[in-house]
Amino acid sequence: MRMKGRVALVTGAASGIGKDIAETFAREGAKVVIADVSFDNAQAAAADIQKSGGVALAVAMDVTQEQQVDAGIAEAINAFGGVDVLVSNAGIQHIAAVVDLSLDQWRKLLAIHLDGAFLTTRACLRHMVHSRRGGSIIYMGSVHSKEASPLKAPYVTAKHGLIGLCKVVAKEGAAHGVRANVVCPGFVRTPLVEKQIPEQAKELGISEQEVIKNVMLKETVDGEFTTTEDVAAVTLFLAAFPTNALTGQSIVVSHGWFMQ
Ligand code: NAD
Repeated sequence: MRMKGRVALVTGAASGIGKDIAETFAREGAKVVIADVSFDNAQAAAADIQKSGGVALAVAMDVTQEQQVDAGIAEAINAFGGVDVLVSNAGIQHIAAVVDLSLDQWRKLLAIHLDGAFLTTRACLRHMVHSRRGGSIIYMGSVHSKEASPLKAPYVTAKHGLIGLCKVVAKEGAAHGVRANVVCPGFVRTPLVEKQIPEQAKELGISEQEVIKNVMLKETVDGEFTTTEDVAAVTLFLAAFPTNALTGQSIVVSHGWFMQ
């Protein structure tokens, strides 16, 4: 029970990686807040956790909307008495070459990944500092926080940007017992990835099997996808780590696709 007595808010936790992190934290004793723009799916995810004996609350939150973020985090604090861990995880992907990318598409992706990370960080950090309870802030980066791929300019830009935000929060948060770190997964078969397999096949003029084998998993040591469980285990390790010895770091979990 490595998270016993702690409150964790996970954005984008109605699906994929965030859902597994919320379930893992709940099994480890945390009270979890499932914050997602898709409120129906967030409620379903919270209900699943409750059925397994965990404590969970669903909150409607578009992470790009300042008022929704502030209100959702206030709701979580009211319900559970505070927030100890933020996992800023909500995200989308958009597959297009730079020459075909519209400004709206660029701005939308940056808003969800970067405005969302900033707004949720600010609200949680204010609370962690003022309440003197400290905390742990974890950003869902990607191998694309370290490496580039074609057709993913806004995503690669945003994921690199999260490392900068993390390092600043690690420095500003240290005096208040707040740590900040980034988890950087390789490809995980969530709805976000299922959607881009046919999109990449079309853009690159190859089959879906070739996208999986020759694009997504080509550089891994064993041709395997990373799983939501792998990512949740690393996130749990960071969330439960007790001191400032581990802060401002980014940990890659990618079957060796990227080696530091
Ligand atoms: P997913 O599509 O399964 O889940 C994303 C969740 O985010 C959904 O529940 C969605 O409703 C929510 N969301 C989208 N926009 C939102 C907004 N504006 N406000 C609040 N919630 C919003 O995707 P996933 O693969 O689980 O991705 C989760 C995170 O992991 C993302 O940041 C993604 O970039 C990152 N990531 C994924 C992979 C992968 O291969 N799947 C690899 C590396 C990093």
